[in-house]
Amino acid sequence: MTAGLLELTAAQAGAAVRAGELSAEEVFEVYRARAASNSLNAFLWVADAAPASPKAAGAELAGIPLAVKDLFCTEGVPSQAGSRILEGYRPPYTATVVRRLAEAGAPLLGKTNQDEFAMGSSNENSAYGPVLNPWDRGRVPGGSSGGSAAAVAAGLAPWAIGTDTGGSIRQPAALCGIVGMKPTYGAVSRFGMIAFASSLDQAGPLTRDVTDCALLLRHMIGHDRRDSTSVQFPEEIALPDRDDLKGVRLGVPEELVGAEGGVDPGVRRSFEETVALAERLGASVESCRLPHAPHALSAYYLIAPAEASANLARFDGVRYGLRVGGDDGLEQMYERTRGRGFGAEVKRRIMLGTYALSSGYYEAYYGTALKVRTKISDDFREAFSRFDFVVTPTSPWTAFELGAKLDDPLAMYLNDFCTVPMPLAGIPAISIPSGLSEGLPVGFQLSGPAFSENRLLQAAYALERAIGFDGSRAREGAVGDDGGALGGAGRGGELDPGAVA
Ligand code: GLN
Repeated sequence: MTAGLLELTAAQAGAAVRAGELSAEEVFEVYRARAASNSLNAFLWVADAAPASPKAAGAELAGIPLAVKDLFCTEGVPSQAGSRILEGYRPPYTATVVRRLAEAGAPLLGKTNQDEFAMGSSNENSAYGPVLNPWDRGRVPGGSSGGSAAAVAAGLAPWAIGTDTGGSIRQPAALCGIVGMKPTYGAVSRFGMIAFASSLDQAGPLTRDVTDCALLLRHMIGHDRRDSTSVQFPEEIALPDRDDLKGVRLGVPEELVGAEGGVDPGVRRSFEETVALAERLGASVESCRLPHAPHALSAYYLIAPAEASANLARFDGVRYGLRVGGDDGLEQMYERTRGRGFGAEVKRRIMLGTYALSSGYYEAYYGTALKVRTKISDDFREAFSRFDFVVTPTSPWTAFELGAKLDDPLAMYLNDFCTVPMPLAGIPAISIPSGLSEGLPVGFQLSGPAFSENRLLQAAYALERAIGFDGSRAREGAVGDDGGALGGAGRGGELDPGAVA
């Protein structure tokens, strides 16, 4: 059974555990060994054993270990947000969403690599070295939840959680050939998530298929009094079962899918095929307008850095992680710690954000960006009065080569062209694999109005079944020749970060 375990989705593995065909210990051990091989540099820390949790036995997620992005606080376990400044930081508490999933039976498997403070689209901004894409190790897995996406795609973890501020779940899911969902803002508690841009950050699932996504999301949502922006989700998340799209109205936004988005020909082909497939399943498809969507990137790259500049002020060498001391004074210590602790992209964002918020520029930059954000929400509201969902490619292109966009921040930011409008509007969106282009996965994105998660999952499920994407190639040889060499196969605890850098 263990040999076939990798072929099972998380939901199937859980069912096998409940039926007594597999033991939870066996499942944990198989994945622990795969995760600890640290092939792909996807993990920064791997558990030695499943925590004993009598409460979790028999729970719905019992026996399905969970990979968790490094920026979720986990009690006593390194939580570094991919940054040097938090090196060795072990929080005294656990993020609400991780605690909820553990209570539902999913033990912590490990912490996954990510772009520093979730700033990036390629995982190359991690202080602990880049993650490799299991489809082609010369390419990026996307970011910022690149470790979570690569781990799930390569079968190093049955499933994972990540965070999405401007695309950080959906874009890596697309580039790695898995499912990723950003829920409605407020659906999942942010308590214990190391903040990047608080008005945008949302946690969500990265999974092998849509059913796993629904199952994981079901246990993530819910009001948390420790997060003042969290809300009670109006209904339970159901497991999807729909196999057609009869009566579903899809809108294709010209502004995102047209020439301006710079969508690659291979990605466009896969998108068009998927739209045609949706029509065959009974959906109606028409073009729609999101007139302000092309300005979403500019607004995002003011709002997110502005919020980040405030959120990251707390890392000063006094309270957490790194301190680069000396006896020349407090301010000098702050400067040295922040100078040494933050990477180049984080510094760029702090400077951009501080500038955008500075007196004299606040109205012109930050204020204008907020107005654009409102316009984008209005555009979606208008679109959803005529359509059930808005569909786009998730990323304009497939996984690019490591280093290809590192020297060009603007080219890197364009990754988010189709994913940034949704978090600005606070609405949910899901990316599913729609096929391959030159051997690399392509993602198809569906977004809907706030709290439409159940309907989105149903539509994504119907499409997923019709597409029949096969992700097995990413799992074959994932823990291969160099698997042990990179991080020490079979070893738990802290891995040797950056071994592939
Ligand atoms: N790639 C985007 C950025 O760099 C989005 C990141 C995210 O969603 N956390 O900000």
